[in-house]
Amino acid sequence: MVRETIIHSDLSVVRVEVTVEGIVQGVGFRPFIHRLARRYHITGRVHNFSGGVVIQAEGRSADVEAFVRALPDEKPPIARIENISVGELDAVGDSEFVITASREAAGGTILLSPDVATCLDCTRELFDPHDHRYRYPFINCTNCGPRFTIISSVPYDRPNTTMQPFTMCPQCQAEYEDINDRRYHAQPNACPACGPQVELAVGNKHYGGEAAIRQTIELLVQGKIVAVKGLGGFHLACDAANDQTVRTLRRRKGREEKALAIMSASVVDIDTYAELTEAARDLLDGSIRPIVLLKKKDGALIAEAVAPDSKYYGVMTPYTPLHHLLLDDDRLLALVMTSGNLSEEPLATDNEEAQSRLGHIADAFLLHNRAIQVGCDDSVVRPTSLGLTIMRRARGYVPFPVSTQKDLGKVLAVGAHLKNTFCLTDGRNAFLSQHIGDLDNAETLDYFQWCVDHLQDVLRIEPELIAHDLHPDYLSTRYALRLAEERGLQAVGVQHHHAHIASCMVENSLEGEALGIACDGTGFGEDGCVWGCEILAASYDDYRRLAHLEYVPLPGGEQAIREPWRMAAVYLARQGLLDEDIDFCRRLNQKQWRLLSQMIEKGINSPLASSAGRLFDAVAAILGLRYINTYEGQAAMMVEAAAAVAQGSYDYAISEEGDLMVMDPGPIFAGIVADLQADIDVGCIAARFHNTFVAMLADAAVRAAGVTGRKQVVLSGGTFQNELVLSDLHQQLGEAGLEVFIHQQVPPNDGGLSLGQAVVASERRI
Ligand SMILES: [Zn+2]
Ligand SMILES: [Zn+2]
Ligand SMILES: [Zn+2]
Repeated sequence: MVRETIIHSDLSVVRVEVTVEGIVQGVGFRPFIHRLARRYHITGRVHNFSGGVVIQAEGRSADVEAFVRALPDEKPPIARIENISVGELDAVGDSEFVITASREAAGGTILLSPDVATCLDCTRELFDPHDHRYRYPFINCTNCGPRFTIISSVPYDRPNTTMQPFTMCPQCQAEYEDINDRRYHAQPNACPACGPQVELAVGNKHYGGEAAIRQTIELLVQGKIVAVKGLGGFHLACDAANDQTVRTLRRRKGREEKALAIMSASVVDIDTYAELTEAARDLLDGSIRPIVLLKKKDGALIAEAVAPDSKYYGVMTPYTPLHHLLLDDDRLLALVMTSGNLSEEPLATDNEEAQSRLGHIADAFLLHNRAIQVGCDDSVVRPTSLGLTIMRRARGYVPFPVSTQKDLGKVLAVGAHLKNTFCLTDGRNAFLSQHIGDLDNAETLDYFQWCVDHLQDVLRIEPELIAHDLHPDYLSTRYALRLAEERGLQAVGVQHHHAHIASCMVENSLEGEALGIACDGTGFGEDGCVWGCEILAASYDDYRRLAHLEYVPLPGGEQAIREPWRMAAVYLARQGLLDEDIDFCRRLNQKQWRLLSQMIEKGINSPLASSAGRLFDAVAAILGLRYINTYEGQAAMMVEAAAAVAQGSYDYAISEEGDLMVMDPGPIFAGIVADLQADIDVGCIAARFHNTFVAMLADAAVRAAGVTGRKQVVLSGGTFQNELVLSDLHQQLGEAGLEVFIHQQVPPNDGGLSLGQAVVASERRI
């Protein structure tokens, strides 16, 4: 938002004070201001304050006006301007423009920069044999390099980063002090003479410098697995074209099927194995460089074992100089670059810790001596026809805030159990943490608590209110309640799907009441059932449940989530279809099923659920795609991957129980069984199932709109990572005259939940 004052356009001299808020520190903003001042013959001063920079600019009014206009237009590439305000002052007749010392203002939100991928200038220097930093793996400048992951405290100055132990050599120091240099005030500035160094450890052998890089490349080409220390953690790297090696990595890592991210030197290489869109190219060549999900191309030279369940590859391009060097070899089309952690454990960040934890996976370790202050995974995004879907928000995005129209005060929202992120708010800024992971063991919980403390410290936010999920057994809920008691703060429990809808509403600046369609795996419902396919009329402080998927029992609770075949049997049995002549029924273990049906009958560990995820699971098992999930969401993803483009749909029913609609997918199963018996292709059946699911949601939503008179509808929950469901439902609701809103800044899955919790809690503050 830029508020402009009217400056009289004559030759008189004026002086204004311009306050620029946003990420304007440590990104070359003050030198940029200085250059701009020279261009427009401006005198005065600029200094940093905790929330941004303040400029006093004096000159001829037309020049001052041009100067102010150029600020947002010509800002340095990684600066992010949130607000510019201009006030008039009396001219004082300064003779020059100076940069003055930073001032510590009390209060004011501090905006820290996320880590930024190596810029083009640095990349050019990296491969220029005449450059002093030729092939130096830590080259960076004001426009790129590590930020969030090296900051231990504020203000963002070198002593408060993990660059603190490295003293700049005279040449680096001169660059750092020269306002005309690209490395002016670049806190991580370093060169081979004074900065961090790499070291390769292969058994008892150690290699340093260039030898370490060359040797690592040889190991990778030979099919070895190398743990590579990066920006926010370790990657396990291996040749992505070598099926044998990729399988070995999976076996050692205990990650049998989930897709592995890969990295290629450039979009030219990626173009050989994945479908590139314009949006994808921009992401791959940009300054954030997340993992981008791209449709696989036929005949790709990437090992089958990289992403066996998915129609996508998760692809990155190098975002550190070290990555550029490792991929600078024609023998490597792509490297697997998967997080250096065992399944379920937090990211390894420390050299010794990594060596002990990853020792049985990696054949060698490419280490370096710049510490990682805070772990940060790679972000994962998918460009769609409707914009960007962020599946995992971490490196490159964090800690940039989501800005909200409402003042949220200072809230800590602790997020969900799976795909946890937490959220700290300060006024109109909502700072979501990096992806923490699934909070189901002590190590991840410790890491979560450490991250909460760290982010509070570096953002200087002292929460006044704590928000949590309603599930009493979530470790995050227990943590929130304990913290609230310790600090004497109010704790607000927020229903899971209400939080989903609120997060999408606030991201889209909606006000009042909107319709929300929340579809996911599981969330604790207010009636004690497991919810997961809900249509709500929601405002920020409250909601009404208008529709849900019909309840079915989850025999065995958690076990039913891990074993999709159980849900398939439940749905088929309800429709009296368990004796049909289809593969699933023939293969069903009758003894196991008898036990389950007794559990259901007696109500033993068989909670009722209205879960979209479990419905997809059931279909996956009946189609023979997946009987057991080895990771969360696997079966559902395979149904999406299997779906061909096909016409047709199945029956469903919607009944009304008082004010509540119940969506019954039962008739779908008769349709699927009939199609299977008619030898209809699985791809076609999967497509028809998608078509029906979307039609049922659209039908119920349109009825809900009729009842409530609401025309705005938001879509949230993990199911909306399914591109078919998202785009088809968006289109159908639009055609029905509704205004549809989706997530663009935070994940639709539980990774975005903490934002919604924060908003709801803020609204319910006493
Ligand atoms: Zn650079
Ligand atoms: Zn140096
Ligand atoms: Zn959820």
